[in-house]
Amino acid sequence: HPQALAAFQRDIEGIACLTDAKDLRLKARDFYWYSPVLDEQLKDCRAEIVVQPDSEAQVLRVAAAAARHRLPLTVRGGGTGNYGQAVPLQGGIVLDMTRMNRVLEVAPGQVRAQAGARVEAVLDAARETGQQLMIYPSTMRIATVGGFIAGGSAGIGSVRHGILKESGTIRSIRVATIEASPRMLTLSGADIEKVHHAWGTNGIITELELGLVPAEPWLHCIALFPRYGDVVRFGAAVLASEIDVFLLSGVDRRFAPYYSELSAHFDGSADAMFALVNPRDEQKFFELAASLGGRRGLCKTEAEMAAAGLPPVHECAYNHTTLQALKTDRGWTYLQMVVPAPFDAGLIEAQMERYGDEMLMHHEFSRFAGAPRLSGLPLVRYLDAERLDEIMGELERDGCTVMNPHVYILEKSGRKEMSADQVAFKRQVDPLGLMNPGKTLATV
Ligand code: FAD
Repeated sequence: HPQALAAFQRDIEGIACLTDAKDLRLKARDFYWYSPVLDEQLKDCRAEIVVQPDSEAQVLRVAAAAARHRLPLTVRGGGTGNYGQAVPLQGGIVLDMTRMNRVLEVAPGQVRAQAGARVEAVLDAARETGQQLMIYPSTMRIATVGGFIAGGSAGIGSVRHGILKESGTIRSIRVATIEASPRMLTLSGADIEKVHHAWGTNGIITELELGLVPAEPWLHCIALFPRYGDVVRFGAAVLASEIDVFLLSGVDRRFAPYYSELSAHFDGSADAMFALVNPRDEQKFFELAASLGGRRGLCKTEAEMAAAGLPPVHECAYNHTTLQALKTDRGWTYLQMVVPAPFDAGLIEAQMERYGDEMLMHHEFSRFAGAPRLSGLPLVRYLDAERLDEIMGELERDGCTVMNPHVYILEKSGRKEMSADQVAFKRQVDPLGLMNPGKTLATV
């Protein structure tokens, strides 16, 4: 869009921009490379300009100019999404929100922040008042709150508070529309779903209010078991108990070589449950583990973990588990699924038997609609796309709900169907269909 771009640049004079070829490439990437399928499809995508607004007024100027010159606009936070969520498929503008990074207000039970604030900055500000976020991604050091709400769905804390959608974490979202005279809208209650996990296709989030709960000095724990099935049984037992956990991640012993820093505590001779446990329940947690054949592998405070040079257990959870393996072996990729309830440890052991060294198991325990939920994030040795499809088909025949992480279209990832309400909202906020085009099947 060379001509439109030149005119756009004149319209947004005074707003920081990047046009260097290296930046246009870097800011067009996210963590899609976890998938060799997506890597092939998305590696050549480029931004034509990266715009870095530092205020809502600047966002509105960019939105007006994008609409005037009909330029595609892809919003970007930390760029840690996994499915090419922030990749500008059709070039145009990448709107980098990381200069809008202020934590505006921390009140009892609530924090208000600009969308480009790092999740960690919000956590730090909340902690100063003895509070913490209900849910956050394991990428909190890089991910932004806007990106988490637009791209994420669960995370650390979901075992206690449910997934993002139902947890009450998102109190309100402020979005800018993309039209000749852009408007600011504030959504709360059920309307939040129109923007949450819409991958930046339903308005530019500029500001958010998120719920806070009293902070707990979570203990970083590892419980070890003779069989992976025991880890699954233990997870189900923890969820059925009163034990207060903030993270519960089952990790196959074959991940141990990728966690060399933890080798004194997770050496590959046993399968592991990585957990964040309320100190008040430490004893109950390990007693329950022992009753199911488990033993204590590690239990330390955050400060003790740091002093011992150990990574926090949340870096052994969610998509960090995948990342640790990929750092040393790019022959892996991964899958995502929800295991049918009630969890059947026998089914998971049968899957391990079926796939052998082609699959390393990893599960996240959470709650959904008040009930326990088990999500599988196994590593899979990559052969080709056909083999991935075959495995996904088999897992579906096992009764698992597969969420395909090898596609870049929202509805095809299985995470979310755009409801009629959301499509109607898209018509209001993005009447020209300029936002992150190609990522949703919903048309305006
Ligand atoms: P980006 O990747 O920059 O953007 C994500 C999506 O949101 C894009 O579609 C983008 O267009 C849109 N977007 C960004 N900012 C805005 C805005 N201001 N307005 C409108 N749309 C916007 N996810 C989880 O849910 N839980 C986890 O525990 C988790 N762990 C992960 C671990 C690793 C190692 C990796 C690589 C990923 C993980 N993810 C996880 C996925 C990802 O980190 C989260 O979704 C993250 O919160 C995204 O934030 P971000 O700022 O990097 O967003």
